[in-house]
Amino acid sequence: MRCPKCAHDDDKVIDSRSIRNGDVIRRRRVCSKCGHRFTTYEEVVKTVLTVLKRDGRHEDFSRAKLRAAVCHAAVKRPISDPQMDILVDEIVHEIETEYEREVPSTVIGRKVMDKLEKLDEVAFLRFASVYRRFRDASQFLSEIENLIGRQ
Ligand SMILES: [Zn+2]
Repeated sequence: MRCPKCAHDDDKVIDSRSIRNGDVIRRRRVCSKCGHRFTTYEEVVKTVLTVLKRDGRHEDFSRAKLRAAVCHAAVKRPISDPQMDILVDEIVHEIETEYEREVPSTVIGRKVMDKLEKLDEVAFLRFASVYRRFRDASQFLSEIENLIGRQ
């Protein structure tokens, strides 16, 4: 790292500590020429994920939008805000781990359904009915029957 005081190109790290729950590393450095002490921060560059929609269009991934969609399905259901945040965080973490740049909207929908199913069946069915755009009522009913049949 170039020294901000004398522009010399060599330094020694004298202290490293992780901050913000390990998301950032703060390093204290000392210039090997003039002895000036300065600080640098290091963090992971987050790439912007793009969602590939079913109609072929692209859209920037938005955590807020995902949360709103799940909340909409969970209206008046006994799912607390912290539970909702955990669910959304898990999905975001999974897609950020599994996809580098582009994630199909169908993958996100599937993940939401998998998690909602374990948390609240009514919210699950509401989300499923929107997400899958059931062709008719009987399709929706068969989904309910599957759910009941599994118990
Ligand atoms: Zn220096």
